[in-house]
Amino acid sequence: MSNDPFGLPSASRRGFLGTAAALAVGGTFPLVAPAAAKAPLSKTQPAYFYRFMLGTAEVTVVSDGPLPLGDPGASFLGVPKETVYGMLESSFLPKDNVVLEQNIPIVNFGDRLVMFDTGMGFSKMFGPTTGRLAKSMDEAGIKPGDIDDIVISHAHIDHIGGICTADGKPLYPNARIHISQIDFDFWTDEGKLGSPLKAFVEHARANLMPVRDRIVFFKDQQEFLPGVQAIAAPGHTAGHHIFKVVSAGKSFVFLGDLTHHAVLLTENPRLEFAYDSDPKQAVQSRLKLLGMLAADRTPVMSYHFAWPGFGNLAKAGDGFRYFPAPMQMLPG
Ligand SMILES: [Zn+2]
Repeated sequence: MSNDPFGLPSASRRGFLGTAAALAVGGTFPLVAPAAAKAPLSKTQPAYFYRFMLGTAEVTVVSDGPLPLGDPGASFLGVPKETVYGMLESSFLPKDNVVLEQNIPIVNFGDRLVMFDTGMGFSKMFGPTTGRLAKSMDEAGIKPGDIDDIVISHAHIDHIGGICTADGKPLYPNARIHISQIDFDFWTDEGKLGSPLKAFVEHARANLMPVRDRIVFFKDQQEFLPGVQAIAAPGHTAGHHIFKVVSAGKSFVFLGDLTHHAVLLTENPRLEFAYDSDPKQAVQSRLKLLGMLAADRTPVMSYHFAWPGFGNLAKAGDGFRYFPAPMQMLPG
């Protein structure tokens, strides 16, 4: 038995030690030999999808790309800006720019494909990194023509934006669009085109009016598709809903914009968000529904949390803590 710590045969050990001695004496040899094999940096984004099973359904999360909101102190309100920056810093996140993901789950129930929200589409209001949905779906091997149903949490620009092209052509030729009537009526109202909401209303009209004949309205608590139930969560918008998705006894809740950030509105759900229609009502919806999800231990699929946005929430102090789920690797 050799007591050599490297486990090398004695001849190799001599060679190894001899080389080390030569390097030490000579002093001019490089400490690391040039690599015989090397490759250029790829500098490309890998495929932007993640897949896991929910009961007997297959869930593919595709991304519309990150959405940079800018100064977090300008978007997350109700406390001094320094409090917001401090929460980010203690979570190892940058203080100068808060970046939201756009995680879009597509659930294949075996007999239908259901997609939840659609990203920014052709709008570049938040810069060039959004609008990636079609590319992400292509990478995941999902054809737009195979989507049967599109479920919309609310009619904001980053949720309805990917339904039509800039010239009004529907991108999902076979899909029905499910949304609350309250949000449809509010955000497509031409009377608001002269208000500060103009850009939001224009984008909602551009995406929803060309498919008006394929829009179906759901109601609070209604299971409007097999395995998909609407749950009213008003405040962010008046008709904002979250959705319980069930397959073979397993479930998650798609959070829409009930909370935009795993730290800021989750660890302190009483914070307010600049884009809320009714910030006080949004706080009440967050406290009630996040509390239910934590108590029930129901997994959550979050639209805006860090990629891919699947995990659990637990009660923590006056708020909640998000626990990302481990990656689920499918065989093969
Ligand atoms: Zn949003």
